[in-house]
Amino acid sequence: MSLEVRDSIIHGKGVFTTAHVPKHSVISRVNMVREVTDEYPLDPDKGELEHHCHWYPDGTTALVGEPHRYLNHSCEPKVFLYTINKVCYLMVMRDIQEDEELTLEYSVTDFGGQVWDCRCGSPDCRGRHRCGFRYMNESRQMQYLPYLDPFIVQVYSDSIQEILDRQLQE
Ligand SMILES: [Zn+2]
Repeated sequence: MSLEVRDSIIHGKGVFTTAHVPKHSVISRVNMVREVTDEYPLDPDKGELEHHCHWYPDGTTALVGEPHRYLNHSCEPKVFLYTINKVCYLMVMRDIQEDEELTLEYSVTDFGGQVWDCRCGSPDCRGRHRCGFRYMNESRQMQYLPYLDPFIVQVYSDSIQEILDRQLQE
């Protein structure tokens, strides 16, 4: 499946498909260049920037290569990440037309992250919000639970179970 990096109306560059992608399909493995460690930190002179990184829930950090480092966030996403045995796959949650930008809900790749201003432009946009599944409101948590990365589910199983049990009490 062919992916292209093009200018995005959401932010900077984005990742686009050159053909229709049916929902419930696997697009690719995410291109992870290497692990970022104290011995091998990011090298900004080579264009390696913090926002090109993927943070695994076990505390390790990977430098994401092209084209995947340009995946933008949307509060109405089209793709999600599925990590198994530390291999990260890019999966589709809905039908994607040719030339559409692939967008990811960053909060399903993260459990507790930073506050930032979203300008994704979707009618459902949360605007300024804290990234991370635990900071989504409960209806959104239930909507996105099936798309949570299994690696995150494994590491944060107790917190996720608390969310489910709270739903039962309401
Ligand atoms: Zn948004």
